Amino acid sequence: MERVITQTLKDTIHGLWGGSEGVQILDMGVNLFHVIFLDDLHMARFLQGEPWLFDGHALLITCWEAEMRLEEIEFNTLRCWVQIWNLPLGYVDMEIGRAVGTHIGQVLEVDSRSNEQERGRYVRVRVNLNIHKPLKRGGLVPMRIGKVQIVYHYEKICDVCLYCGMLGHEHYACKDRVMDEANKVRQKNKYDSWILVHGE
Ligand SMILES: [Zn+2]
Repeated sequence: MERVITQTLKDTIHGLWGGSEGVQILDMGVNLFHVIFLDDLHMARFLQGEPWLFDGHALLITCWEAEMRLEEIEFNTLRCWVQIWNLPLGYVDMEIGRAVGTHIGQVLEVDSRSNEQERGRYVRVRVNLNIHKPLKRGGLVPMRIGKVQIVYHYEKICDVCLYCGMLGHEHYACKDRVMDEANKVRQKNKYDSWILVHGE
C-alpha cells in the first residue's frame, strides 16, 4: 500500500507542472515523505491544493526548518476550505467570514467571491484545522444583532468520524463509540454527513 501511495503522490506532484523537474520526493518511513521544492511557486501551488487525498486519507503536510530532525517534526494541522452557512443575508461578506472563521481555526484566506451576487448564501474561508480536535459543527456566534446559529460545511475532506468528529477514522472504528457502547451510554452520531461536501 505504501508503494502505491508513494507512486500516486509522486504522480500527483509531478503532474502539477508536467514533470519531475523542480521537485524531489523522498521516502522517509511508513507513509512519511520528504518533498523538496526547488521553487517557492511550486510549493505554494501544492499547498494551495490541500487537502490532498490518497486512498481516502488526507495527506498531512508540515513545513520543516533546515535544523529540525525528523523526530521533531509534528503534524498538527490540515488546511481546507470551509463554507459558513446560515448567516443573515446582510452578513455574507469577507469581513464577517474572517471573524467567524476564527471559531473554526486559523484563517488563512477568505474567498473574495463571497461578496458577489451569485454566491450570496455562504462565505468560504480557508483555515488551518487542528487535527487533534473534533471538527466544529457551527453553533451560536455572537454578532451585532445578537447570537446567530450558523453551520459549517467542510470541503473535500473525508475520513471523519461522524460520532466524535475527529479526523482519521470512521464512526464504526471509533474508540469513543465503543467505550460508550460498553458503558451503555452510546448516543446517536453527533455529526451529520452533510457537514462534508465534495466542493463548492
Ligand atoms: Zn470517533
